[in-house]
Amino acid sequence: MSTPFVNPLSIPVLGFCAYSGTGKTTLLKQLIPELNQRGLRLAVIKHAHHNFDVDIPGKDSYEMRKAGARQMLVASHVRWALMTEDARDGDPELVHLLKQIEADKVDIVLVEGFKKLALPKIELHRAAHGKPFIYTQDENILAIACCDDTQLPSDAIPSELRRLDLNNVSQIADFVMEYAQNWEAPLQYPISAVDACTIGDNKNLSVSQGLAQILSHVSPVAEVEEIDLDALDNRVLASDSISPVNVPQQTNSAMDGYAFIYQDPMPATLKRVGEVLAGHQYSGTLNAGETVRIMTGATIPAGADTVQPRELAKEVDGNVSFDGRIMAGQHVRLAGEDIAQGQVALAKATRLSAAEQGLLASLGLNRLNVYRRPTIAVFSTGDEVSQPGEALKANCIYDSNRFTIKAMAKRLGCDVIDLGIIEDSETALEATLAKAATLADVVISSGGVSVGDADYIKTVLARLGKIDFWRISMRPGRPLAFGKIGDSLFFGLPGNPVAVMVTFLQFVQPALRKLAGEVNWQAQLFPAISDETLRSRQGRTEFIRGIFQLGKDGRLHVSSTGNQGSGMLSSMVKGNCLIIIGDDAEAVNAGETVFIQPFADLL
Ligand code: AMP
Ligand code: MG
Repeated sequence: MSTPFVNPLSIPVLGFCAYSGTGKTTLLKQLIPELNQRGLRLAVIKHAHHNFDVDIPGKDSYEMRKAGARQMLVASHVRWALMTEDARDGDPELVHLLKQIEADKVDIVLVEGFKKLALPKIELHRAAHGKPFIYTQDENILAIACCDDTQLPSDAIPSELRRLDLNNVSQIADFVMEYAQNWEAPLQYPISAVDACTIGDNKNLSVSQGLAQILSHVSPVAEVEEIDLDALDNRVLASDSISPVNVPQQTNSAMDGYAFIYQDPMPATLKRVGEVLAGHQYSGTLNAGETVRIMTGATIPAGADTVQPRELAKEVDGNVSFDGRIMAGQHVRLAGEDIAQGQVALAKATRLSAAEQGLLASLGLNRLNVYRRPTIAVFSTGDEVSQPGEALKANCIYDSNRFTIKAMAKRLGCDVIDLGIIEDSETALEATLAKAATLADVVISSGGVSVGDADYIKTVLARLGKIDFWRISMRPGRPLAFGKIGDSLFFGLPGNPVAVMVTFLQFVQPALRKLAGEVNWQAQLFPAISDETLRSRQGRTEFIRGIFQLGKDGRLHVSSTGNQGSGMLSSMVKGNCLIIIGDDAEAVNAGETVFIQPFADLL
């Protein structure tokens, strides 16, 4: 049985395991230069079973550590080392160690040891040692590197297990390269899945499980429409846009200067035979030794291939001499170098923002095929929920959820139908849901799905459609209802305003993007250094409102917005990102790296 392992990094991790004496280190010492040569940047983590030291008595760093520094960092201009005293009973924790690796500096982490962890690994085996195989007990072993004389028990060989030659370093390097190239970061979050279990009829799901279930029910809208360039904003392309032209159309000058035929060496002076402005063309063909004065964007005269900028040229009586080095072909933009005629300029499923619209315009296209906009219908529930603009009754609150939901859905290019506030009554709810489902692709409600008051949403939905009630292991935003009423999708979001925004971002957003025609959209997550200790609980994903900024050290730093009450919309206003702490982590210490999801996407 292996111990669960979740890779906290955005790069692959691959283990090498064997009984001691098999030659793990010998292999790694040969493999590392081989992989380096192939351009793979490596980090290595090695598990030592004994009390090791990397420092030498008498060195300042050694003496300061022995004097009681729990962490000692010694640095020079070539290398730095951090030594941390970590007296513990059991094994060191690989996940914690991996978080110390600077994942932007390497492409893969090779791990020697940690045999018992459920980490993808290569087993090393020598028949001569007479030790048992590890792969028969561990399904995380991808390949076994052994010698010719090794007999693998044929009944126990999993079909996907690769056999490698322990003495063929180049073959093992091929395997590592292939593994690194095919590795994909975990679907959406750097977190493990919490096993689904059923509590009454409330299923407990992790964030990624919930999302996967939701997306499995979403298909893109079928209808396509042809619309004007001017109406494209935030629409999604329904077919590839093929460029009808070369961009740029003609080979032209990138500078104001002189165009000529490159020669090595160049003559001391060239004779100016003409001038060409943008939008025009020099009528003749240039000969060697001649030059034409040219403006930025003007077509390069026939024959010419190189441009020297005006600042580096001197013209006296029609004779032009140049300063500085000249490289053949410099300052020339080749026809079609941006986009060639016949090339896919923008692929189907691309969402069209400013740059995409500019690009389509630059191709001369003015009518494009896009998917129709999805329609959402939104309503709020709760007797205490009041309409903004009206006097606030005692014990009531103003409705904010409808407004955050509508704004986010519009940003995603949806048409929005507002069904207002629905009182807590079975009849009102049933009528609203039935109507909403006929009007919209997606019906979104907020409130009324927590355990206390879920009952009639449940009974109504059971009559109208097929609904699941989930407890998502997340904070904020635990209860979530999802299902179908007729052909429409239904999201029953929690009531608390922050929970609504967070669950919209994590679940509704990917669904609306898929519905709108985008393919495999994923939230952009970035690693940032936490400037404070953030509390969390294992088995639950935390979405903490955070403020990220570029630190003086040139790295992203993040801190929380403070009070994290799930009703406090001010935390969403103050923050510029969600800090996501996966369900494998108990807490994040100040200085550790966390993933952030900037709001910029949507809010
Ligand atoms: P519920 O899930 O209906 O019990 O609601 C949880 C909390 O969210 C309660 O404090 C509600 O008052 C609040 N809430 C529910 N709907 C809204 C809304 N549309 N706008 C603001 N707060 C709401
Ligand atoms: Mg309620």
